[in-house]
Amino acid sequence: MSKHVVVVVESREGTLRNVSFEVLTAAQKIASGGNVTAVVFGAVTEEQVQQLAQYGADTVHVAQHADLQTYSTDGYTQAFTQVVETIKPDAVLIGHTAIGRDYAPRVAARLGLGLISDCTGVTVEGDEVIFTRPIYAGKLFQTKKVTSGTIFATIRPNNIELAEPDTSRTAQVTETAVDVTNIRTVIQNIVRKTTGTIDLTEAKIIVSGGRGVKSADGFAPIKELADVLGAAVGASRAACDAGYCDYSMQVGQTGKVVTPDLYIACGISGAVQHLAGMSNSKIIIAINKDPDAPIFKVADYGIVGDLFEVVPLLTEEFKKV
Ligand code: FAD
Repeated sequence: MSKHVVVVVESREGTLRNVSFEVLTAAQKIASGGNVTAVVFGAVTEEQVQQLAQYGADTVHVAQHADLQTYSTDGYTQAFTQVVETIKPDAVLIGHTAIGRDYAPRVAARLGLGLISDCTGVTVEGDEVIFTRPIYAGKLFQTKKVTSGTIFATIRPNNIELAEPDTSRTAQVTETAVDVTNIRTVIQNIVRKTTGTIDLTEAKIIVSGGRGVKSADGFAPIKELADVLGAAVGASRAACDAGYCDYSMQVGQTGKVVTPDLYIACGISGAVQHLAGMSNSKIIIAINKDPDAPIFKVADYGIVGDLFEVVPLLTEEFKKV
């Protein structure tokens, strides 16, 4: 049976985030020929509407309020609750991003809906929509389905293979004012801790350093390799705790969950909490001087050696490509 699916569009500094296209791709699958509505908070450009249409949006619904220009928990929770109450969709999908994780459970609770969070896969079998999600820090995967009422799920970025954009598609734009009151937290200014770097959660290649880099200066060869590869730089918690790098770079259970095409782990032992954040990477290369390091169990390619010798060699070789 065809369904009406609502997704939320995420953008950063005026650019739509990839996760928006991924949830649209998943939504198209669930809609099974039905309708897909992409909800935008604040404003949307004509070019963005076109992009959203190409990835499956039939309607772009702009929820307008002056206080929705920047994210706030109260603002998005109130606005999106109203949007879902108005549209009454069969399914709702949100990216499992820092902000999606924040407001999705609040909206679900207000609407009295269950929430299947952090899904890495969606399949449709007849009338049933089945979500796959990791459990036990990624050691196992479970499947879940909603048996009654509106389906509500968050989708982990970089897991849904994007559909080919269909340039012939167009979308209708609708606008509604939403009622947003009593916002307790207002973001006045955003100060980036890491300047000019690629967003870890959307990066296609990540080079990460662990305690094995031994100091903040030890990150220099990691950063050089990342620059040559056009990669983002990540880190283990031990490296962050030791002050070698900023916590915004932490990958893992209590850091960022990443799924790049290529993850290069340098001087990282492979603790279960680190693996929880990166083991779904498509290809993992581990560089570690200990041949028994657990990271080699999840690595597709392993290099046993001193990272301060291996990483510069790799950088030189990649420079030639
Ligand atoms: P280590 O385990 O000390 O490993 C360093 C590795 O570097 C070793 O394998 C060593 O052989 C290698 N090495 C040393 N020198 C060199 C060299 N010159 N060349 C090559 N290799 C070298 N950790 C995370 O990463 N992310 C999380 O989100 C996270 N969340 C946590 C949550 C909880 C509740 C807890 C309890 C822990 C969490 N941790 C997390 C910490 C985790 O348990 C590990 O302590 C941490 O991942 C270890 O980081 P590491 O691999 O860099 O350091």
